[in-house]
Amino acid sequence: MDKIVSLCRRRGFVFPSSEIYGGLGSTYDYGHYGVLAKNNIRSLWFQAMVQERDDMVALDSAIILNPRVWEASGHVSGFTDPLVDCRTCKLRFRADDLEHAQCGRKPSKHPGEHTECDLTEARQFNLMFQTHVGALEGEGSLAYLRPETAQGIFINFKNVLQIARRKPPFGIAQIGKSFRNEITPGNFLFRVREFEQMEMEFFVPPDEADHWYRYWIDERMSWYLRYGLRESRLRVREHGEEERSHYSRATSDIEYLYPIGWSELEGVANRGDYDLTQHTEHSGTKLEYVGEGGVRYTPWVIEPAVSIERILVALLVDAYDEEVVADRERTVLRLHPAIAPVKAAILPLIGKNDEMVARAKALQAELRKRHIVEYDDGGAIGRRYRRQDEIGTPFAFTIDEQTLEDDTVTVRDRDSLAQERLPLAGVPDWLGDALELPWKTPKGG
Ligand code: ATP
Repeated sequence: MDKIVSLCRRRGFVFPSSEIYGGLGSTYDYGHYGVLAKNNIRSLWFQAMVQERDDMVALDSAIILNPRVWEASGHVSGFTDPLVDCRTCKLRFRADDLEHAQCGRKPSKHPGEHTECDLTEARQFNLMFQTHVGALEGEGSLAYLRPETAQGIFINFKNVLQIARRKPPFGIAQIGKSFRNEITPGNFLFRVREFEQMEMEFFVPPDEADHWYRYWIDERMSWYLRYGLRESRLRVREHGEEERSHYSRATSDIEYLYPIGWSELEGVANRGDYDLTQHTEHSGTKLEYVGEGGVRYTPWVIEPAVSIERILVALLVDAYDEEVVADRERTVLRLHPAIAPVKAAILPLIGKNDEMVARAKALQAELRKRHIVEYDDGGAIGRRYRRQDEIGTPFAFTIDEQTLEDDTVTVRDRDSLAQERLPLAGVPDWLGDALELPWKTPKGG
């Protein structure tokens, strides 16, 4: 993980936030390449979940909702983690996760194991951030930053049913920021207090719920495999009864083998009719499906939920590679081309040669109409290639002496390092096709 964090910092994917003021624990800002990679993850999720389907609509609900939403959903009373304080070192820990925490006095021990540890009784700590709406602070103005995007979907169920004229099975997909005042954030972007969730609620007839639950686990697994995560690093773990949330009929985590061990990448839950029933009771608005011939029922809900942060960390960890090529070390991000922040580099072999520069800039102008590409004429060509390898750029086009004679360029492949010559005029089509080809990581299964 340290190598990923340092690469992200060095190449401007991710910066610790508010750094000039000493930072703010586990809060990050995204730089240029981080923004590009996140845009790719977001749009590939949206493509698979909405664009390529007939049974899905999109939604973008507010972050601050009527606080009664969170009473109905159970978050005000139950969205808590058990917290303990140590009176000696003044640190706070999740009581249910002490085995992963370090004692403030002796990091090789867990809290409670050192003779000087003095832990309080566990108490429930609500993870929702509170705020106030309007100019007056008081009970009546209390509101919350949403801890998940899902509730915004449930409260719009009726709108979608009527206006988009949908009938179960159908889904509502949403991408947006969520906020949780985690007791122990950490492990880089894996657990942060502000993150971008991609959630989809799939409304189904109750007797089809199990089928769709299994369907969505499979769909989401194949999405990860399609975008290059190694199969050996992914697994599905079904929750036992004692682990499941109160609303859940069944839950499975799609886990990735992060450097911290197998951990939840995405959760897929069968939420039954819990949410629509709760909002019907609390709002007085009936949230049910009424079909032809007097059919009437409260749909059950299947929910795949993930954050862009956890996907980004998994992809970076999976892609990171170091190797020695011709006695030189290189660091390379073997990212799927669809995920890579920059799709191609355009490099004049000699940065001071006006003709090469002119050809390279003309190619850049052409390619940037369709793709994120980068022009670079600074320094030795080998160094420029390595700069691109480090950010995962799959292809580099080099303009050299021969280009000036016969209008061809070389294209270099990031993974195999193979080089071939192409007609300059054919580069836009070649790149468009190459980016569409199925891709498999050369790192193996
Ligand atoms: P965990 O057990 O790791 O806290 P959770 O079960 O509370 O996660 P869910 O409420 O199921 O998580 O949230 C759905 C998804 O949102 C998770 O699978 C994960 O991808 C993402 N997520 C949840 N909390 C965070 C966080 N603090 N930082 C980044 N992503 C998060």
